[in-house]
Amino acid sequence: MSEFASGSLTGKNLHLSFGSNHVLRGIDLHVEKGTTASVIGPSGSGKSTLLRVMNRLIEPDQGDILLDGRSVLKDNPDELRQRIGMVFQQFNLFPHKTVVDNVSLALRKLRKLPAEQARAEALEQLDLVGLKHKADARPANLSGGQQQRVAIARALAMKPEVMFFDEATSALDPELVKGVLALMADLAKGGMTMVVVTHEMGFSRNVSDTVTFMDGGVVVESGPPEQIFTNPQTERLQGFLSDVL
Ligand code: ADP
Ligand code: MG
Repeated sequence: MSEFASGSLTGKNLHLSFGSNHVLRGIDLHVEKGTTASVIGPSGSGKSTLLRVMNRLIEPDQGDILLDGRSVLKDNPDELRQRIGMVFQQFNLFPHKTVVDNVSLALRKLRKLPAEQARAEALEQLDLVGLKHKADARPANLSGGQQQRVAIARALAMKPEVMFFDEATSALDPELVKGVLALMADLAKGGMTMVVVTHEMGFSRNVSDTVTFMDGGVVVESGPPEQIFTNPQTERLQGFLSDVL
């Protein structure tokens, strides 16, 4: 059995404009419970915006978002945001707080846990990402890879049903990328439901169950990794892959 509570998540015909810039032009994205969907595509194609719309940081102009097949757009947006954990390129840890306080903060503020229980749960999450021994350090005294693992622990502490990663390894020194990708792969294998925007084609190909290629605010191709990477159907995807591989 999966160690995570999980839900399937679907974006249907999502549209979003920033002023006259029509950034999402009818995106469909579905991630099945316990699977990992990767999203690839050139810079500016709308990948980050798609994640922000799918966790309702931004409301879509058109389209629907379904969790376990049920539309969530009429609910309070905070509900979905709390059910989706998010990890960004920039870790956004509080520099003046210790590692364990960074992880326990949301547990106290959002899950309203008493301080002692929040600390205990935070230490448990830090243990899972291999950083319990850094609990009382400040973020600045950790490597970038360790800081990103703390950010992942912080998101996991909220017991999300789905995890979003937006280029989580793009800001890391090359030698630190592997450890973070390995942790993400472990989460995927452990049954977490994940949407991963990434430039790491190895991860997309080897870890994700489905790959969605976006360009210019539309899904140009999507399918299982074997199909996307070995038999791309469109010139746009062929061109993208020849640039990045
Ligand atoms: P990607 O993550 O694929 O690089 P983004 O989703 O960040 O692409 O950006 C897609 C487009 O939306 C770009 O043209 C970008 O300039 C624009 N954009 C993103 N965020 C905002 C914003 N907050 N306000 C205005 N335009 C934005
Ligand atoms: Mg982006």
